Parts: sequence; C-alpha cells; structure tokens
Amino acid sequence: MAAILGGGLGGLSTGYYLLKNNLINNNNLKLYLLEGTKYCGGWIKSIKTKDYTFEQGPRTIRPKGIIGVNTLNMIQDLGLSEHVASIKHDHPAAKNRMIYVNNHLHLLPSSFKGVFQRITPFSKPLIFALLNDIKQPYKHLEDDSIYNFVERRFGKEIADYAVSPMICGICAGDAKEISVKFLMKTLFEWEQVHGGVVRGMIKSIFKPNTDKILELSDLARRAQEEKWNVYTIRGGLELFPTALHNYLKDNDVNIKLNTKIEEIQFVDSGTVVLKNTAGEKIEVNHIYSSIPAYSLANLVCKQHPELAQDLRDIPFVTVGIVNLHFATEKTLITPAFGFLVPPIENSPILGVVFDSCCIPDQNGTVLTVMLGGRWFKEKFGDAVTTSTLYDIAVKEISSILNITEKPSAHNVNILHRCIPQYVIGHYERVEKIRQYIKDKNLPISLVGSSYDGVGINDVIYSAKTQVLKDCI
Ligand SMILES: Cc1cc2nc3c(=O)[nH]c(=O)nc-3n(C[C@H](O)[C@H](O)[C@H](O)COP(=O)(O)OP(=O)(O)OC[C@H]3O[C@@H](n4cnc5c(N)ncnc54)[C@H](O)[C@@H]3O)c2cc1C
Repeated sequence: MAAILGGGLGGLSTGYYLLKNNLINNNNLKLYLLEGTKYCGGWIKSIKTKDYTFEQGPRTIRPKGIIGVNTLNMIQDLGLSEHVASIKHDHPAAKNRMIYVNNHLHLLPSSFKGVFQRITPFSKPLIFALLNDIKQPYKHLEDDSIYNFVERRFGKEIADYAVSPMICGICAGDAKEISVKFLMKTLFEWEQVHGGVVRGMIKSIFKPNTDKILELSDLARRAQEEKWNVYTIRGGLELFPTALHNYLKDNDVNIKLNTKIEEIQFVDSGTVVLKNTAGEKIEVNHIYSSIPAYSLANLVCKQHPELAQDLRDIPFVTVGIVNLHFATEKTLITPAFGFLVPPIENSPILGVVFDSCCIPDQNGTVLTVMLGGRWFKEKFGDAVTTSTLYDIAVKEISSILNITEKPSAHNVNILHRCIPQYVIGHYERVEKIRQYIKDKNLPISLVGSSYDGVGINDVIYSAKTQVLKDCI
C-alpha cells in the first residue's frame, strides 16, 4: 500500500509512472492519492469561455531537452496530442520578447545576428560580454548567485537587463539570491573547471555528447521537426492534469479529495500512518510527498524536527495574477510573448504575458499581469486585496501599453507561497534532506516543485526519476 500526498502535477505524474511501470498492478498494491482541496491540478487552473482563456497559473511548456521530450511523450500517451497548440520558432511570440526599462519597451535579440548589434538598453553589442568573460581571473566557488556569476563573467548590464528579468519570469525571484546552478549549472562548471565560460564552451565542442536520449513519441518528433519554441493546451492547460486525474481514476487509484493530511507518523521502515484533519488514519508502506516542502515540514516536525527545519529553509514567494480581457476588435498590443520588468526598475509588476498572442481561440485582447513575487510583501504588505492588485495592474498596463479601454472581463488571484526559490545552497540542502531520509530509513520519496526543478517538465521528470529509483 502506498500513498501520494498532493494532487498537483507532481502527485498526478507520480501516480502515472507508478502505474506505467506496473509497480502498482503487478505487485497487487493499493495506491491512494490524497489531495487537500476539492481539485486535482494544484496551481494549474484555467477559466475558459467562448471569448477567452484565463490561465491562473502556468500557461506554456517548453518542448526542448530530455525533460521536454518526456512531457510530450506523456501528453501523447494521455491522448492529448490534438489539443496541443504549438508556438513555432518563427512565431512572433517566440521571436518577440521585451523588457521594460527607462519607461520604454525594448525588444531582446532573438537571433545570432542580434548579438553583433547594439540594442537598447544595452550600451554595447552583446558579443562584448564574451570578451569580458575571457578577461576575468579564476575564482574558486562552491555556489554563487546567478546575478553575481553573470555580472562577473558578462557584465552588469547583462545581469540587470537579461538575467534578472528572466529569473522574475521563471520563478518570480531575485537573481541576487537564486543559485547559479538553477539555470546555469553547466556554465558555472565551465568557469570552475576551465577558468571561464568561453574556454569551457570551446573544450566542450571536442567532448563526446553523453546526454541521455529518450525514445521520441510522434508528438515529440513533430516538436523537433517543426522547431517548436513552446506550446500550450488548447482549451486550457487544466486539461492536462484532468487527463492525468482520469487516467489514475480509470486505473483504480483511490483518489481522495478534500483530504488534507496534518500529521505523518513513521512507525518503521515499511509502515507509516497518515492522519487527516478529520482525525482519520491511513496506514501505508510508502509515501510519495508532492506537497510543498513547508507543508511537509509541518507534518513531520514532531518526530523529525531536524528534517522539518531543512524543509522549511526552502523559501517560497507569493504572486498576484491579474487576467484581463478586452473585447474590442482594435489592436491593443504588438504581437509578442509579452514583457518583463527588471527588478532594478522597482516596479510593482513582474511582467505581462500577451495571452491573445500565445494561446489560441481568443477574441479580442487577453493579457496576464504578474505582480509581487520575491517583492510581494515589500510592495503590497500582508493585507492587500484583489481589487487593489487589479487597480495597480490596470494602471500599469495603461501607462506602459497605452491601453485606455476598460477590461470587459477580469480575474484576480493571490497565489500564496506558490513558487519555491532555489537560493544559493539549494542543491546541497536537498541532498542533505534526501540523505537524512536514507540514513533514518524513512519510507518517503520527495517529488514536486520544491526539490528538482520548478517548471512543469522538471516536476514530471522528477516524479519519473523518483518512481524508478524507489521500490515500494
Ligand atoms: C503563477 C505561476 C506560473 C507558472 N508558469 C509556468 C509556466 O508557464 N511553465 C511551467 O513549466 N511552469 C510554470 N509554473 C510552475 C508549475 O506550475 C509547477 O511546476 C507545478 O504546477 C508544480 O506542481 P506540484 O505538484 O509540484 O505542486 P502544486 O501544484 O503546488 O501541488 C501540490 C498539491 O498538494 C496539495 N497539498 C498541499 N498540502 C497538502 C496536505 N497537507 N494534504 C494534502 N494535500 C496537500 C495542494 O492542494 C496541491 O494540490 C508556474 C507556477 C506558478 C505558480
């Protein structure tokens, strides 16, 4: 008997891989999925009407790399291929990504040619950043912030205008706190082993490619042949967790909604008791926890305070999401993915996604404004209301995009502690947590966005890796 804790994408994917690898049916094991709310899908939530789709959480998925292929293989297996809406490499949403600096929108370079041209707000062509890298002296470090690393290797402008907004876009975080290993592990290794990024890049050309290769589904092959940049699910990304939920249900997984677990008691290396808020107990042999690290900390703190402390030390940020629909047929935006605002601009907003350009089947203009993140409390305090966030979002887009129309529909959400921050030392902390679990023989595996990557692909791939690693 096993239990998956949490029914977000991490928990649902764990169930999928347990079934696919016959770890449940072959061993005649019973599997529970215990979800605290009435909905499976976690942060993935879509509102679909005939005129617009509002994504309240994630909206696009990257097809590239082994983890991208893995997700596409799963999507095809779930029968969702025909719902996939791709954004190819030459689509405006793939080519046009902007930053808002000094009261202007600036297009970031999207081609090789672009790095040889001087593009505002950068004072020199980006190629000069590589010269800076070559000139830097060697510095030994175990870890560093991504901001420090980029500033040291490529200069302050790249750190401020390229990397800092990118970190806001990916995890709503502060590049000055996030570990360089989060996005630039290979570049950091090149610096540490070869003394610089350019030197490491040159040496890597002569190294055989040892990347793992996955078998490609037809969908993954199409994504490669057609050079997809990103994709989404037509009808709302929510269809993805819904399909996983149905797959688990059809395969006799006992899905218990509205079942919030409030305590875990480890009895021995093969017995663990879960207690929910109604006082009911479920005894299983193994748990897959996909809930946020801080939630798990509360469940294990009585028996394992040291483990709980390490779990609590993984910080999370809160994000405000304001979805806006403008029914007018007038063109309100230039075709693009949207824009990000570098933290150095000190704006209340992190960025705006031009959904009507990225998500199909929309009438009029649809935008999503993201607010706060690492700076949520500092900008808005603890008691901000959704109507205040709406007013701020509308004011900002009116000033930046010159949109004076009133939205015809909107939706505002405050997603409390929704994105984990992989700060300096994160990877060592996760290793320590897993080592503790191993040393104490605790029958628990950790999946979900708190540990091995914050994006959809990472969460799915981490579920697969943990399932294959552990024997129930
Ligand atoms: C605003 C936003 C935008 C994003 N955009 C993108 C994007 O465009 N592309 C991308 O790849 N990724 C994106 N992400 C990241 C992506 O959403 C996450 O990687 C993914 O949804 C995480 O899934 P999860 O299962 O790990 O966690 P969650 O979605 O947090 O699921 C955890 C589940 O556990 C349940 N739970 C918690 N505590 C308990 C308990 N005690 N008992 C029982 N159940 C419990 C919760 O109710 C929840 O359902 C975005 C995230 C956010 C917040």
